[in-house]
Amino acid sequence: MNTDSNCKIACQLSLVRSTLPENVTLVAVSKTHPVAALRAAYEAGQRIFGESRPQELAEKANVLPKDIEWHMIGHLQTNKIKLIVPFVALIHSVDSAHLAEAIQREAAKCGRTIDILLEIRVAAEDTKTGWDFTELMQYVRSAPFARMENVRVRGVMGIATHTTDAEAIRRDFTELKRCYDLLRPYFGARFDILSMGMSHDYGYATECGATMVRIGSLIFGERNYTRKED
Ligand SMILES: *Cc1c(COP(=O)(O)O)cnc(C)c1O
Repeated sequence: MNTDSNCKIACQLSLVRSTLPENVTLVAVSKTHPVAALRAAYEAGQRIFGESRPQELAEKANVLPKDIEWHMIGHLQTNKIKLIVPFVALIHSVDSAHLAEAIQREAAKCGRTIDILLEIRVAAEDTKTGWDFTELMQYVRSAPFARMENVRVRGVMGIATHTTDAEAIRRDFTELKRCYDLLRPYFGARFDILSMGMSHDYGYATECGATMVRIGSLIFGERNYTRKED
């Protein structure tokens, strides 16, 4: 990676930051991008990075500075949890009881408490992952979270329908905010993260109450998916 592209990342990062309300946390989504790109963002002051593949996340964490907060934002298979559980700061993509309970088991083995978000499905496409909100409420009411001593539920994550229709995007983000407000009483004061909004729609997300946005291509440029899914 040459100086030009480092400069570009720093510029894009400061551009994105300048558009975010003060209380909104930026997760720089660095999946598929090389370590040098993350280093450029780090040197420009970024400390929170989001990755979607456990193996890639672990490899990058291994070679980059230790004060980085690593967020897992992609679909997580239970057999990959142990790759990230020793150091991950937040898992955004918890979309089933099975996964939450598996995180609990691995976290207990490490003697850590892991912060998680509940990923809720609101998008029109049925390819999008996440809890059905009605099922999630049933699970939350059955109180197994209360027994998970090593898992702390910090909030909600979601992805809006991929469309240019602003009304449809706002509808999805408004629904996520509604779910967040309904869940909040069950989890108390540390339940304070509403993670929604990506490069193309984060402006709507912050209007609708996002406290955290996940932005990749706007900072690092387009991704090319040559890397095998792990
Ligand atoms: C890749 C990804 C993002 C970032 O997407 P961009 O369009 O590059 O900003 C955000 N959230 C999730 C869950 C992702 O997988």
